[in-house]
Amino acid sequence: MTTKHGSYCTKITRFGLMNSYLVDEADGLTAVDTGMSGSAPAILAAAAALGKPIRRVLLTHAHTDHAGSLDDLMAQLPDAEFLCSPQTARFLIGDMGLEKGQPQSKLRGGFVRCTSKPALTVVDGDQIGSLRAIAAPGHAPDQLAFLDSRDRTLYAGDAFQTQGGLAVSGDMRLLFPLPAWATWHKPTALETARNLTALKPSRLVVGHGPVLDHPHKAMVEVVERAARNFQ
Ligand SMILES: [Zn+2]
Repeated sequence: MTTKHGSYCTKITRFGLMNSYLVDEADGLTAVDTGMSGSAPAILAAAAALGKPIRRVLLTHAHTDHAGSLDDLMAQLPDAEFLCSPQTARFLIGDMGLEKGQPQSKLRGGFVRCTSKPALTVVDGDQIGSLRAIAAPGHAPDQLAFLDSRDRTLYAGDAFQTQGGLAVSGDMRLLFPLPAWATWHKPTALETARNLTALKPSRLVVGHGPVLDHPHKAMVEVVERAARNFQ
């Protein structure tokens, strides 16, 4: 299913659970996340319906349900650039080491190996078209979020979920517990959720669940809830 949110964001949902996005830019489209394996045709069909080429493919993190169709998609987009964080790039080639200074907790969730190589790696503060990269570790150590500077839509990856109710990654929602089970380090996830909430996004878009407009008050509430639950 494909839905439009605001002026620039098209959401592609598979199985009612997993989201990828196309961001409208002056020169074409930026795909944010590629979904699990088998999602490339739906993403390409959504781009075709918009009548614009996909210029860039961004990953929020290397979990299977976000990177699973990367190679398929890139194989069909010879002129597009793939971009991700340096740690996502390492995870995709099976180098699963954590960085010095990161909590040395065990990685959780499914990771996927890919042969696509990033044209560039991006770090906190980098600008990719209209999107500013924001370090968003916690759910996974390699995670980036992206804030659209035109309308403050926040692509939060799995830093938050909205499936089963809005929640900080790691704060269990019984209706959809998968992101909580896959969360690497809860204190870091909480710090990231606080940072992302402080950006006061106009719209919150996530890997799992519906898009939330005017999310600030609800984000503040679930950050407080997670702070209690993580104690
Ligand atoms: Zn994930």
